[in-house]
Amino acid sequence: MKLDTYCPYPFMHAAQSSQESFQPCCIFDSKGVKTKYSSIKDYWNSDFLLSVRKNMLIGEQVAGCHKCYSEEKHTNESLRTHTMKHYGFQKNLKIKSLEVLLSNKCNLKCRMCSSDRSSKWINDEKLFSPNKKSTVYETSLDTYFPNDFDLSNIEHINILGGEPFLSRELNNFLLKFENKKNIKLVISTNGTFFPKKDFFEIIKDYKHIKIALSFDSPGKLGEYIRSGLNWEKFEDITQKWINIASSMKNLSIHSHCTLSAYNTHAILDVIQWAAKHNLTSLTFAKVYWPTELQPEALPANVKKKIYNYYFNKNNEEFLFDKIVNELNVTRFTHISFIRSMLIKILSDHTQQEASEVKFYEYTNKLDKIRGESFYEISPYIDKPRNSISNL
Ligand code: SF4
Repeated sequence: MKLDTYCPYPFMHAAQSSQESFQPCCIFDSKGVKTKYSSIKDYWNSDFLLSVRKNMLIGEQVAGCHKCYSEEKHTNESLRTHTMKHYGFQKNLKIKSLEVLLSNKCNLKCRMCSSDRSSKWINDEKLFSPNKKSTVYETSLDTYFPNDFDLSNIEHINILGGEPFLSRELNNFLLKFENKKNIKLVISTNGTFFPKKDFFEIIKDYKHIKIALSFDSPGKLGEYIRSGLNWEKFEDITQKWINIASSMKNLSIHSHCTLSAYNTHAILDVIQWAAKHNLTSLTFAKVYWPTELQPEALPANVKKKIYNYYFNKNNEEFLFDKIVNELNVTRFTHISFIRSMLIKILSDHTQQEASEVKFYEYTNKLDKIRGESFYEISPYIDKPRNSISNL
């Protein structure tokens, strides 16, 4: 069997990507593929998934997995390689891992999100992408996770959103699993809610619960990217999670940052903040969509400035390495991944004007709708240069 196309996910995992959609993992590119299924059972037995598995077993590349293949070319690492290390080859076809959304209800409207994942985006989208029709949804547990679908081998559940603590089905979903003592749970939250007592009563029976606090930068920049966020409140709630984790052996508090064109210059602030709060881990993921906000879309001169800030060759030690070494955060295992990612993105100065224009277009249009201004917040990005200043 060829090792460079096989991925354990299609054999043991299902990721819900919107109300009725499932796919092999969260970054799988489903363009041109049917993803709507009436339940997880239909998805698991679908012709589509059968052909993905078959291709992987005969060493063929799967079109929807191109993001992994591309990252491996540049960094030797990808979600596929991480998953291989963690799960290895799957001998049995049993679902062991689940990623669910439950609802798109959210109180924030992060710039790299959309109404598929945030109900707060619905109004902005009427002006931003008028052709898109969206509603607030809540996954029906009985329909999408029917009782005759075997969930008894589940070992890992990742709950995303919307904001999970706004879903009225969260506790019901957690109560659904009989083998709680075998399950590691990850709940990604935007850090603006602290749940009531009944939630803690339910999770005490789980093997482990990881709360992943999503943030993209401390302070004003974080508030700009995650519109609706109050940074002071986020810090208060982080402290509440840290306090309760000190009295629950099966609970740990982590952090997660999405690398986009908006915070490419602020990654050291992110690392310093997570280190200061002694969080158990800090993970990173790069924005793939909207393509306009990928860090690659930054203007070439901006990338140069940020590259010099992190990796200025005139210093004895790069600032990036100096700060990371001083913080002694070896537990943040994604640091080498984000370091390689930054070097790769920022040292590529062959930026096409077309993607620079799209970045400015996207930013200016959303700034106008929201009455915000990126140029007042970022020290690195000037207003668009003359040729594109009228966007
Ligand atoms: S190879 Fe990558 S994109 Fe494909 S299923 Fe695995 S993790 Fe997902």
